[in-house]
Amino acid sequence: MKKNTIQEKMFLELKQKTVFESTQKYGLEYLDNVFERNVYPTEESLKNLSVFEEAFPKKSSDAGQVIEVLNQFGGPATVPTLGGRYFGFVCGSALPVAIAAKNLGTYWDQCPTMNVLSPIGAKLESVVEGWLIELFNLPKDTSAGFVSGTTTANLCGLAAARYRILKRQGWDINQKGLYAAPKIRIVTGQAHSSVIKALQLLGFGQESIEWAEVDDQGRVIPESLPELDENTIVILQAGNVNTGSFDPFEEICDKAQKANSWVHIDGAFGLWAEAVDGLRHLTKGCNMATSWAVDGHKTLNTPYDCGIILCKDREAITSALETSGAYLDKSDNRDGMYYTPEMSRRARIIELWASMKYLGKQGIDEMVSIMCDRAKQFAKEINSLNGFVVENEVVFNQVIVRCETDATTQNVLKNIQELRECWLGGSVWKDKKVIRVSICSWATTEKDVRRSVNSFKEALEMENAPTEFE
Ligand SMILES: *Cc1c(COP(=O)(O)O)cnc(C)c1O
Repeated sequence: MKKNTIQEKMFLELKQKTVFESTQKYGLEYLDNVFERNVYPTEESLKNLSVFEEAFPKKSSDAGQVIEVLNQFGGPATVPTLGGRYFGFVCGSALPVAIAAKNLGTYWDQCPTMNVLSPIGAKLESVVEGWLIELFNLPKDTSAGFVSGTTTANLCGLAAARYRILKRQGWDINQKGLYAAPKIRIVTGQAHSSVIKALQLLGFGQESIEWAEVDDQGRVIPESLPELDENTIVILQAGNVNTGSFDPFEEICDKAQKANSWVHIDGAFGLWAEAVDGLRHLTKGCNMATSWAVDGHKTLNTPYDCGIILCKDREAITSALETSGAYLDKSDNRDGMYYTPEMSRRARIIELWASMKYLGKQGIDEMVSIMCDRAKQFAKEINSLNGFVVENEVVFNQVIVRCETDATTQNVLKNIQELRECWLGGSVWKDKKVIRVSICSWATTEKDVRRSVNSFKEALEMENAPTEFE
């Protein structure tokens, strides 16, 4: 019998579809269980990951078997950030409609680099650009670039700022580079580590940062800002990664506008407050900035790999991210590649569009308000337990908690993680170790919060229980 070529084999798999059917089945089974299961993989499933440590296969195998091994050993070793009791870092869940849209988009496999490469991708990007301007009350001609996350969005916004400030002085960074360029000043308060990374990548270096003083919640104190000028980039944040606090945008942006400085806001999870009637006081004045970085995959709950760079100065951002080539087929419409550092990328816009279309303004308002209510509930219930103190003003979705001593905090955190009822990480706030709670999932219910607070209680009891040696 003649053996099938790899091409014939793949056509057959595509025609028979059994591999797609089994994948769909496994996926749906995963969803059935994800809201109830342990919030961190068991020791056994972690150990089983060793099945992946095999030599690179010499021969092609069966597609069904590839998927089967992935499902059997991969699924149990996932962290169910999709569920309602994952409070680590700042991770969103994913809306059902967004998972479904992503599935459809997977079959399409689109690359929205240019209109000519994906008309649907390009269309959705233009439409969502307009929706975001409306939702965040941004200046009319603000551009949106669809990137992998806020880390990249920060990089793009700061690259645009660098381009504009130098261009004003007759220095074209794209041509002349940075080595002999006029100095750019960087002013910030408590910038996120991704901002620092972006500054490093852009050639500024940490020593060039002028740090403004912050208050006890990590907000920039406007009076402490150094004199601003037109060579300054001011970096503010909507949502401090520990306390969830917001810099006072109105006062600072007003100063910056008068001085003609560039203001970049890192609003990874917090910019969404601007879309919520009951929270908009937190972001007051944020629309006076020049660029904004925000994630879809945190507060909005799109699947991962969804960040957005919004920029009022369209010419600066497209110039900073410029690519050209005779083979590139630029259209009269918006071509996505001029707003991102990448050329090829997946069409993450499909999930972002589906999420925004599904929720609408009212749905976003309701969903984000609920997250904040849950954070307040968490803080209240924790505060009523002996042995725990909430360390921040809970204004958005972040709660930071500590025990009496650093050692207790650390051990209790470890116990909570081992109990696997919920998952949280640690941080340091005002020189003390803390447990960080970030409520960022549409799926977190009052019951999830109660169950997680119980886990805090149990973890402290474990820590206080006398050991057999005492
Ligand atoms: C998460 C986060 C980032 C980084 O965003 P990614 O999407 O993980 O790249 C930047 N700033 C803040 C405040 C964040 O919370």
